[in-house]
Amino acid sequence: MSYHSPIVVQSILAGVDKSAAEATPVCEALGPLDTLIRLIRRTTGAESVMVQFEGDMPQPIRLGRECLEVPLMRRGKRIGALRCFGTAFTPEADSLMQEFAALIVEQNDLSAQAHVDALTGALTRRAFADDMERLVSTYRRSGVACSLIMFDLDHFKKINDTYGHQAGDAVLRAVGRLVKRELRAEDRFGRLGGEEFGVLIAAGIETATEIGERLRQAIAAAVVDGFEEIRVTASLGVAGCDIEIDSATALMSVADQRLYSAKRTGRDKLCTGPSRTRAIPLC
Ligand code: GH3
Ligand code: MG
Ligand code: MG
Repeated sequence: MSYHSPIVVQSILAGVDKSAAEATPVCEALGPLDTLIRLIRRTTGAESVMVQFEGDMPQPIRLGRECLEVPLMRRGKRIGALRCFGTAFTPEADSLMQEFAALIVEQNDLSAQAHVDALTGALTRRAFADDMERLVSTYRRSGVACSLIMFDLDHFKKINDTYGHQAGDAVLRAVGRLVKRELRAEDRFGRLGGEEFGVLIAAGIETATEIGERLRQAIAAAVVDGFEEIRVTASLGVAGCDIEIDSATALMSVADQRLYSAKRTGRDKLCTGPSRTRAIPLC
């Protein structure tokens, strides 16, 4: 999983493509990327521009428009696509798009440095909270399922006290690496505080509970490079958006309560809520 600007960025020239603009919600573009998109439009003649990274939701194709596409590449690997839709492209549109694609990847990498925690590779609390707001709004608007797994490492202070702070850092690094390995590109993983993390899944509470349980087992089985004697476990709380839990604050608060139930009732365990197949909360 790699960081990328978390929202579909699209920019539609006011007045030119009114029907398309009405049919598709126009997302707020991010600062520097917004500037790049304006420049792409001005220099290529495109009416609308889309930047799609691997793992983003699929984007609508503009009917009745020609589409020029160039891949977004990082170190020889395709990580997304830049698409321009229009009816009258300038002759140099193709080559300009190649150059803009390289700038977009550079810009994305710079954003990553600001939004990703260097030790664990997880999103910062702020970037994660922004993603959560976005996912919960999508749930409220269109009913797309959304769940949150929160977890906190057990007796982590003891690991620091027994093996040293460097060992603690190595554990955090190992946990970050293994969680990212377990998740899909579209899932979001964030560091909420010292040894507390969150995972956002665009799926219901049953799937999130399965993924959380897989994470619990993977953490308990983790081997930390250079500190093979250390064993680490985590306690997890899972919550899913529903009629009552329909804000980011509520989602976090319910997941947090369940995480602390897991702590209170033994640690190295997961607590989750009721679901379609399970009327009684699992803890
Ligand atoms: P519990 O099972 O109840 O969660 O106990 P705990 O010991 O994990 O929790 P506590 O809040 O008492 O301690 C958390 C520790 O995590 C204290 C803090 O020094 C340590 N910590 C926070 N951030 C870092 C970090 O970046 N690196 C290291 N090595 N330690 C950290
Ligand atoms: Mg802890
Ligand atoms: Mg903690």
